[in-house]
Amino acid sequence: ASSTKKRKIAVLGSRSVGKSSLVVQFIENHFVDSYYPTIENTFSKVVAYKGVEYDCDIIDTAGQDEYSILNSKHAIGIHGYVLVYSIASRRSFDMVKIVYDKIIDFCGKNEIPCVIVGAKSDLQSSSASRQVQPGEAEELAKTKQAAWVETSAKNNVNVGKVFELCLAEIEKRSPRSQAD
Ligand code: GDP
Repeated sequence: ASSTKKRKIAVLGSRSVGKSSLVVQFIENHFVDSYYPTIENTFSKVVAYKGVEYDCDIIDTAGQDEYSILNSKHAIGIHGYVLVYSIASRRSFDMVKIVYDKIIDFCGKNEIPCVIVGAKSDLQSSSASRQVQPGEAEELAKTKQAAWVETSAKNNVNVGKVFELCLAEIEKRSPRSQAD
């Protein structure tokens, strides 16, 4: 419909933190235990949020590391970012900060519409697995003016919430006149 707004969302973070599982759970409503390492996939879904229909393109990226250069495809024309770490990997949490800074550098902005996602929250039951505390992740999000949530693609916890938060972050920053 003419009232549908197009939104492009990029999902970034270290390899194997659960990016594909999160996106597949959101799009297809199931969890695949061993999803093949992604090169890059774009999924589409119409999301109704606060009475508005959003036609979302969700780009599931291969994953980044310290040395990867931000792909311009992941910055130009992107409305919002989902930056994923695993609650069981300190390293992946540190990578979120690195990727965030790379996006900021590339875009030449002070902040971006962004949701920081602590994936694999089901692993906390084995307390030895948790390497990132909710408090510090929330603190990071606050300093970046970003939203934050912990998810489990495995148990389908907070998966839809990620994309609602992302749309909210995008809307917060888009003046009404530019929102369509
Ligand atoms: P990506 O490389 O970031 O896209 O990560 P994948 O989605 O391919 O997931 C990497 C591994 O983590 C796979 O073996 C998944 O089954 C597993 N995984 C993904 N999400 C979860 C989750 O919510 N809980 C648990 N326990 N494992 C998960």
